[in-house]
Amino acid sequence: MADYAMYHAMGQGENVDPNDPNRRTQPAPPQFQPPVAPNPYQQGGGYQAPPPGQSPYPGPVASPGYAPPMASPGYAPPVASPGYAPPHQGQPFSPGPVSPADDGGLAAQMGGMSLGADAGHGTLKKKKKDRHAYHHVDAPAGSSQPYNGVPPPSTQPTAYLDSTPQLGPGQFAGGMPSPMGQFPAAVNPAFSPIPASPAEYGARTGSQFASGPAPMVAPASNQTKVSPDDMPSVPLSRDSVQPYFLSNMYPTFERLVPPPATVAFAAFDQGNSSPKFARLSMTNIPATGEGLKTTSIPLGLLLQPLAPLQAGEATIPVLDFGEAGPPRCHRCRAYINPFMMFRSGGNKFVCNLCNYANDTPMEYFCATSPQGVRVDRDQRPELTRGTVEFVVPKEYWTKEPVGMRYLFLIDATQESYNKGYLEAFCDGILGALYGSGSEEELDESGEPARKIPPGAKVGFVTYDQEVHFYNVSPALEQAQMMIMPDIEDPFVPLGQGLFVDPYESKAVITSLLSRLPQMFSTVKNPEPALLSTLNSAVAALEKTGGKIFCSLAALPTWGPGRLFMRDDGKHPAGEPDKKLFSTEHPAWRKIAEKMVSIGVGIDFFMAAPTGGYLDIATIGYVAATTGGETFYYPNFIAPRDSTKLSLEIRHAVQRETGYQALMKVRCSNGLQISAYHGNFVQHTFGADLEIGVLDTDKAIGVTFSYDAKLDPKLDAHFQAALLYTTASGQRRVRCINVIAGVSDNPKECLKFIDQDAVCAILAKEASTKLATTSATLKDIRLGLTEKTIDVLAGYRKNFLSQAHPPGQLVMPELLKEFSMYMLAMLKCRAFKGGSETTDRRVHEMRLIRSMGALELSLYLYPRMIPLHNLQPEDGFPDDKTGHLRMPPAVRTSFSRVEPGGVYLVDNGQQCILWMHAQTSPNLIADLFGEDKTTLQSLDAYTSTLPVLQTHLNAQVRNMMEFLKAMRGSKALTIQLARQGVDGAEYEFARMLVEDRNNEAQSYVDWLVHIHKGVQLELAGQRKREDGSELGALSSFTGLRPSYW
Ligand SMILES: [Zn+2]
Repeated sequence: MADYAMYHAMGQGENVDPNDPNRRTQPAPPQFQPPVAPNPYQQGGGYQAPPPGQSPYPGPVASPGYAPPMASPGYAPPVASPGYAPPHQGQPFSPGPVSPADDGGLAAQMGGMSLGADAGHGTLKKKKKDRHAYHHVDAPAGSSQPYNGVPPPSTQPTAYLDSTPQLGPGQFAGGMPSPMGQFPAAVNPAFSPIPASPAEYGARTGSQFASGPAPMVAPASNQTKVSPDDMPSVPLSRDSVQPYFLSNMYPTFERLVPPPATVAFAAFDQGNSSPKFARLSMTNIPATGEGLKTTSIPLGLLLQPLAPLQAGEATIPVLDFGEAGPPRCHRCRAYINPFMMFRSGGNKFVCNLCNYANDTPMEYFCATSPQGVRVDRDQRPELTRGTVEFVVPKEYWTKEPVGMRYLFLIDATQESYNKGYLEAFCDGILGALYGSGSEEELDESGEPARKIPPGAKVGFVTYDQEVHFYNVSPALEQAQMMIMPDIEDPFVPLGQGLFVDPYESKAVITSLLSRLPQMFSTVKNPEPALLSTLNSAVAALEKTGGKIFCSLAALPTWGPGRLFMRDDGKHPAGEPDKKLFSTEHPAWRKIAEKMVSIGVGIDFFMAAPTGGYLDIATIGYVAATTGGETFYYPNFIAPRDSTKLSLEIRHAVQRETGYQALMKVRCSNGLQISAYHGNFVQHTFGADLEIGVLDTDKAIGVTFSYDAKLDPKLDAHFQAALLYTTASGQRRVRCINVIAGVSDNPKECLKFIDQDAVCAILAKEASTKLATTSATLKDIRLGLTEKTIDVLAGYRKNFLSQAHPPGQLVMPELLKEFSMYMLAMLKCRAFKGGSETTDRRVHEMRLIRSMGALELSLYLYPRMIPLHNLQPEDGFPDDKTGHLRMPPAVRTSFSRVEPGGVYLVDNGQQCILWMHAQTSPNLIADLFGEDKTTLQSLDAYTSTLPVLQTHLNAQVRNMMEFLKAMRGSKALTIQLARQGVDGAEYEFARMLVEDRNNEAQSYVDWLVHIHKGVQLELAGQRKREDGSELGALSSFTGLRPSYW
């Protein structure tokens, strides 16, 4: 793998360690400012904090077993994770005084750098690769030298080639986790008591990662007693890594395995894109397809092109090359990027994707230094940053780009009014555009703060059996309603005043939205004519493109495209008719394609009438196809759910959104794209993806296959280009560049696995299969099961050098929690066995296809945080670091639940506050107010915590603010699940994915099952249960390793 140093040798001696406090030009390390809840309680104000370690809420007297088993073995608190030190901490890059543009400085810099290779385990492997880190192209001497990684002549040889890697203080040395864990272990369990989690390894320089096999539990199939503590812990893998990244950045080129997706981290873009935008399933890839097959891991890229940035991260540079547009490769059309190499004194640039030597356009010419580095390189973000945006000239336009049109379609039927949904939706829009009530914000000049960019406009439509447009021109005193009566052939009944600047028309809009519920209180049409409404919306947006936000509270049974109850809930053997997963209605398919073609996308906000059927398969199809999203409230109850609805409308409106998008992914010669997984339109295989709208939360999976052997001396490159119009009306290309090493030995690749990317690719693939092939749910589950066995059996069979007793299940270190995530996949609503409404199934299938890594990780394995035994410091900024102290999460299993305990369980979609029947009255009062001391006294529709002057209340509200910052598109409100009282207990039980539930095994039983499969495979006796090696699932389960 190319070393970061190689590329940055091209620079001018700039100090590149983002964590070095003496840095000159780099951004400061992020000072993570913990979000603080409104009116934060000031510590020390009258409340006697309990002494550390003592729970302030002793359980009920009758509960002798109350001693909190927090000391449960195997659950080491994250801080106790020794050895978790950054590789460069004790050994900073800064090689002393370095004069920019000074060759001596360059040499010194290179000499001073630890190349990092193998530093972790003390063996020095200088592969050929290290010296030829990048395209070894025949080039005039000098010009390509820095790329080759050969140190400049003045470099001390020992400093470069023979340096024995040194370990910084506290660095992981010697204490590698023992290679094997034996289960059950009679004596001296070999399973390391302090296993480094994958991300801990990942946080070190990738190649420092241990070469030995992973420690792993091994529930031998003939053993009955398995301790759950020995199984790899998802919460531990997340929590143990977080503290480090609160005060250290993730340099995108030096560290090649990203932290777990649920960890907050600030990336420092060193030319390789941040994992927030692109996560490769492995950042060191096998040279051949056969090599990849031995791992059974897909080669895939998870792209989230508009992912949000975290405080402390540099904004994405926006570059304008004028009429000429950004420089591109003439052969493959790749965009200029940090890995394109300049030759012939700067007259040529060699494409990193297809190797073609292009003439440098005259206007882009710049001389190169003797090392072949463009002298302007450090001033050019497109040559130093992995993610950049180019403003593009007219030839990239399909229509004149304008500020985005936000069109709100508001269901005004009887059901919508009666449920309070109409009012809640209108309130939500007002909050989204103007902030709500007292929190109305002003910008620096005293004007109301804009929630949508200048140039963007909004319009409003209501509908029931008719469609009503509103003229909200600022010149009017009041909005004017225009009825569009012809639902068979919809048109737009007004020429002007439909789309306005929401701040110019604030009075008119506010008045309209406040009056709407009352206006329709007397009309009471029961049936919405949704398709006609969508058709007229398309007519309104045809010239400009834009984004639609549509509420719906009843099955649209009126007018053209009316829908009917397709799902009667009777699914023999739990296997619904596959027809129910998609739409066969041509008019609905047509409207979706029409929207994409004119650059329109739609988000639906759907509330089912008391759990009734909404045909999400058909309606949600339009959202999914156009790149939008469906927000679904399966049993909308206004007092409980209005807050969530309102916050979600606000998020949907305010998140960064682009429209009229095209996306293309390019990769190095030898690789080709095998499939895309996500929500988009692709007319023919190989064509660009067409996306109506794309926002910060949406991700797309791309998988690759081989058409030739890759050269292990070179790197593999990937470039995703998203052409889109910003909400402010600028046509741009966002370019995301990713690099991976290439290795002849697939075992080396297993040291560079990104578990989150692997799981995301497999989940998206499974969802695509379910939606587009004849595969049944059962096929999908068997396929995922067999895949889990394939990966572990392949590892055991191909990559373990020592003989391991057959009673051990051995897992690759970086895939330690993989099995758990795969089990969670079998249990999610999209794929689970047993009964489930098709509305929910289809909804979640599509969610999986559009989710980014963070949202998916939480969705599969929720966070569960005990609130009854918080330390006094939890939920407040740490005195020393200023970072919010989050208590450790616990495994999602009922066996972790303590009597009297209270738990927050958050899967990123909904957050449940579960309370044991014997919860201490003091705790209830501290959390909800003095007048509440029993579970029964709480309001069942509570969705937020009151703001109280108690320590616990402030702690929990602060923690919730933190969790709000760490999720995808869904708002964080709480739903009460009081033991024995609330129906939401069912949801709580569902989220305990380590237990036996959702028609699937417990974690322990699952590992035993997987282990059996591995043993049979090793014995040559495995019969694949999916039985579809050549069937629908073959592309991801049929990769039967051809062993070598
Ligand atoms: Zn090219």
